[in-house]
Amino acid sequence: MSAAAPAKSVLNESKQIERAVMLIEMGARMQVLESETTLSYERLIRLYKEVAGKSPSKGQLPFSTDWFLTWQENIHSSLFMNIHVYLSKGVALEPAELLTKAYRLYLEQIEVLGVEPLLSFTRAWRLVKFMDAGMLTRTACSQCKGLFVSELYENRHYTCGLCNPPARAGKSKNAGALTLH
Ligand SMILES: [Zn+2]
Repeated sequence: MSAAAPAKSVLNESKQIERAVMLIEMGARMQVLESETTLSYERLIRLYKEVAGKSPSKGQLPFSTDWFLTWQENIHSSLFMNIHVYLSKGVALEPAELLTKAYRLYLEQIEVLGVEPLLSFTRAWRLVKFMDAGMLTRTACSQCKGLFVSELYENRHYTCGLCNPPARAGKSKNAGALTLH
């Protein structure tokens, strides 16, 4: 056994805790923490209570891609995903750091636009997982050429929710919806 092993594991341990705290502070739910760290469930629960000052909310997010494809949700998801892909091409970051950085930039962008953030941190994490698993992709809008989160096989006449808002869009114009005009 090498003498460096214990020191290394202590270092890894503190790195895992640091990462868990960062994720909890971003509002991550338990499933994110379990996926992105190697800490035990019990350990994570204790950390969560310590950092968030309350017990984590129970229940899992529905395992469905539908949410990300609905009108406004899709625009928010696309905004986040474009930031995430852009960042991933730059400096090498670990997945949890990349997610956190992209999510912070998404929040900044949303604040500038003056609307409420629809995409939660946990949903952003789930979106990245769906993209990684090839269950969702990005397709260019045939009108504005922007890249939008979509199903895998959109046709070439695909138009995004900004260029082609649904009929109900008019009603929510003043309710913090993202539109082109
Ligand atoms: Zn468009």
